[in-house]
Amino acid sequence: MTIFTKITNREIPADIVYEDDLCLAFRDVNPQAPTHVLLIPKKPLVSLDSFAEEDSALAAHLLLKVPKIAADLGLSNGYRTVINTGEEGGQTVFHLHIHILGGRNLDWPPG
Ligand code: C5P
Repeated sequence: MTIFTKITNREIPADIVYEDDLCLAFRDVNPQAPTHVLLIPKKPLVSLDSFAEEDSALAAHLLLKVPKIAADLGLSNGYRTVINTGEEGGQTVFHLHIHILGGRNLDWPPG
């Protein structure tokens, strides 16, 4: 079980900003921007590579929540979404998560 499942199960605390039956969003403990939230499916998918056809509705649900959560967080001037996948992709927690970052000008390309 990853730390994100423990957050979902309320076994460890997190600053939760959104929750519904399928997903949870909480503030990153090591924020890389003034606003930095992680949106996760409650289903413990390892990464984007784990999505199957049966997860189509879940995938759409997550993506459609991003602009709603960003708006709720006041990111009216824009924001960035990031999904790190696998070791070379920079993934460190192996429970699929969408980073939502905003509140400053974000550089490109990433490091
Ligand atoms: O994409 P990646 O797997 O590297 O992102 C994991 C993120 O989870 C990091 O930004 C890290 O700060 C965050 N994290 C967290 N709470 C934890 C453990 C990690 O917000 N308890």
